Amino acid sequence: MKSFNLTVWIFLFILNGCKDAPNLSDELPQPSQSGNSQERIVDLTHEFSEESVYWVTAKEFELDIVAQGETEKGYYYSANNFATAEHGGTHIDAPIHFAENAQSVDEIPLERLVGEGIKIDVSSKALRNPDYLITIEDFTNWEKEQNQRIPNGSIVLLETGYSRYYPDKIKYLGTDRRGEQAIELLHFPGLSPDAATWLVENRKISAIGIDTPSMDYGQSQYFKSHVTLLSKNIPAFENIMNLDKLPAIDFKVVALPMKIKGGSGAPLRIIAILGD
Ligand SMILES: [Zn+2]
Repeated sequence: MKSFNLTVWIFLFILNGCKDAPNLSDELPQPSQSGNSQERIVDLTHEFSEESVYWVTAKEFELDIVAQGETEKGYYYSANNFATAEHGGTHIDAPIHFAENAQSVDEIPLERLVGEGIKIDVSSKALRNPDYLITIEDFTNWEKEQNQRIPNGSIVLLETGYSRYYPDKIKYLGTDRRGEQAIELLHFPGLSPDAATWLVENRKISAIGIDTPSMDYGQSQYFKSHVTLLSKNIPAFENIMNLDKLPAIDFKVVALPMKIKGGSGAPLRIIAILGD
């Protein structure tokens, strides 16, 4: 039996060696399709393109093709340059964005960016009111429903349902105008300053995220929720997506921004890992 197995292995080894190098991604399990997987990964990141939604005063994403095609030496080659503001598309706000001398994006401890997530779904209210402000009661109601407090060290994701409108600027931002004059036309839901204060004074969260362009709602003038959270070193993820695919608890978040030295924010790749 042993020698039979060995023969089979040698045969398979030779067979495999004869093939072209397999594409690694073809070999990875496809967890969402396998049915018996222990984990499923949900991408919470919008792709970056010329359609990406940026703050109305920020430079939009640009991609310049440097090379694309067959070279003289016979191999294919593709390379691009890109340019982006820190605060646009799916991105992180570092504490220094609204708090002098606070952490820049490269200084945020990784412990704040990787950890247990919870989701608070306010979409039934926010989708009916583009100026909806998430309240303290939204948090306390979640705690009653889940029969637990918001766990220490958790990454809190706020679902308004607005990512379904992305990248339609009129629906998602309230306007497709740009520049300073467009600021007063912004309408989208956000976190109320009272709820931000309640959160930092009564619970110990690692980070927070939302599926709108900003933690403060579109009509905000003083960005108090930003100031409250960022002053306590709680980074904020903005323009995230796919929150409807997450449960209220029992998932991990991995949120890794580009490590820009001294950056006030950065493009972010954020994913959730669900267990079953
Ligand atoms: Zn931002």
